[in-house]
Amino acid sequence: MERISHGYSELVGSAMDHIPAFIRNQIHFHFFTGNPFNAGLIDRSEYYKESLLDYLALYVSPYAQSKHLPKILKVPTIVLLQKPDGLDREVIVHEVGHALDEYLDNQFTFNPVSEYAKTDDYENFAEAFLVWLSFSKYLLLKPEDIYFFDHLFESANGSPIWCNRIPGEVRNER
Ligand SMILES: [Zn+2]
Repeated sequence: MERISHGYSELVGSAMDHIPAFIRNQIHFHFFTGNPFNAGLIDRSEYYKESLLDYLALYVSPYAQSKHLPKILKVPTIVLLQKPDGLDREVIVHEVGHALDEYLDNQFTFNPVSEYAKTDDYENFAEAFLVWLSFSKYLLLKPEDIYFFDHLFESANGSPIWCNRIPGEVRNER
């Protein structure tokens, strides 16, 4: 479901330009602007209440998408819930962090880089990813965490490298 209305192109382009090609080329996701309930992307439910429309943006995993949506349309989707002038590049990069996290099977966790990163393992990853792409990374991320992102897909077959993470830093089973 790739659908960006007029006005978002520059913002989305700027965010995507900010993400290194070795990551951008590895993960696959779509953008969607508009009301994800009305579009049938997600169902109104206890989990996704109407109030989420107050959020800035949202990463919607294929597993969380409506059961009525044809399987072929179920792709990782970043929903932009506000008008372009209510969003910024960092918001989008954070959501791309969620897409990357899911691509990596939600396995990794880092020292929380912000208060929001303490929310849960998902926000922890997205915030670490955002910080890794900023100058604050040297202040907020541990050297091994910077290394983790820097060398993420450098194994011979292009699969993610896991080996630099010590087991204690891998998430517990949910
Ligand atoms: Zn988030």
